[in-house]
Amino acid sequence: MSKLVCHFFLIMFFWVSLCDAQVFDLIIKNGHVIDPKNNLDSKLDIGISNGIIKKVSYNLSPYQSKKIIDASGMFVVPGLIDIHTHVFVGGIPDVFANGRNSVSADNFSFRSGITTMVDAGTSGWRNFPIFKKNVIEKSKTRILVFLNIAGNGMSGDPILTGLVDDNYLEKITSDEKYNQQDIVDMNAQKTASVINQNKDVIIGVKIGHYEGEEITPFKRAIEAGIIANVPVIVECHLPEISLENQLRMMRKGDILSHSFENVEERETIIDENGNVRKYVIDAKQRGVIFDVSHGGYGFWFNQALPALNNGFKPDTFGSDLHKFSMNKGMKNMLNIMSKYLNMGMNINDVILRATWNPAKSIKRGDDLGSLTVGNKADIAVLSLDSGNFGFVDAAGFKIKGDKKFQAELTIKDGLIQWDLNGLGARKYN
Ligand SMILES: [Zn+2]
Repeated sequence: MSKLVCHFFLIMFFWVSLCDAQVFDLIIKNGHVIDPKNNLDSKLDIGISNGIIKKVSYNLSPYQSKKIIDASGMFVVPGLIDIHTHVFVGGIPDVFANGRNSVSADNFSFRSGITTMVDAGTSGWRNFPIFKKNVIEKSKTRILVFLNIAGNGMSGDPILTGLVDDNYLEKITSDEKYNQQDIVDMNAQKTASVINQNKDVIIGVKIGHYEGEEITPFKRAIEAGIIANVPVIVECHLPEISLENQLRMMRKGDILSHSFENVEERETIIDENGNVRKYVIDAKQRGVIFDVSHGGYGFWFNQALPALNNGFKPDTFGSDLHKFSMNKGMKNMLNIMSKYLNMGMNINDVILRATWNPAKSIKRGDDLGSLTVGNKADIAVLSLDSGNFGFVDAAGFKIKGDKKFQAELTIKDGLIQWDLNGLGARKYN
């Protein structure tokens, strides 16, 4: 063999070795990637290194990675984001804040493809430090926060003033708690100040579950949102103001929860002729965000189906996860996504409302909700099962469906946190 040919083979050997160097910790291969932010909707591979998405491309060489996961026949999407949960779990009975009515984020997130949960106002400016220290910093799930305008958040049922301590809460009865509502502790300045000191975790303000007739709490929440430049999420049971006035006072980017609720306390979004009310459409066009916030009572087919037929889609699929909703029709966010798929929404629209839309709504589009190269590797691998399924609403009605999402694999910051069928496990014998 001539020297020239020898050199040629040597160069080729080093070139191939260089190309196949193990530059990735993990490649997810052959999955159908749906990434609404980056307009990706095709069979692609994703290369991950040091917890970061390094490459999204066709046919990445398997020799470039220490580990390969074959996602053939599955959807590979950004880690799901649930913008309405109650995860300030603790030991106090009958309350949400630091209590047993909340649930542990890690127990519910990854098994549903979720990598980020946003707690909707379970804590307020007084007890946020306990939430942060005891739960947020101890959880594998990324927990972000809407801070309740009430100082102690949802530490009572509904809201306590913060003028009492936790020992007192344990002693008083439920009826007594209802008498504790007071707007004294709903302080816009203090709320905004705690938000500004914790901008990495707190992404908005929450107002809700207020039983009084004052409009002040609502105004103070908006005021805190303006000072801290963050959105406000509005939950049910507000002061006795109409939905129309409520929506008028909400700013672009503020979020209405329980959009498809049908309860006495609040006007429905569907009028008596089965159409979406004009002021609701106006609010959506103005940029108010409509979240599902399914919860135990927040989702009714008699609202959601006519709305969808009218072309009125929710912007986000917040679950309103807590001790009472998880065992009802809600179940988990994948169930909400499956409901909408079976109600006629296409799969790209469904994924959009569980990834990119929620990321934008909490102003975290820069680092969450997409598979952008350079982002943290938060990824969900979903299968779409076929069969005979039933989906239940708050009124106890069901629709039938033949498709259901299942979380096969959930990766957060590049690490596998959930692997239903051992996609990432070694084969035994
Ligand atoms: Zn809630």
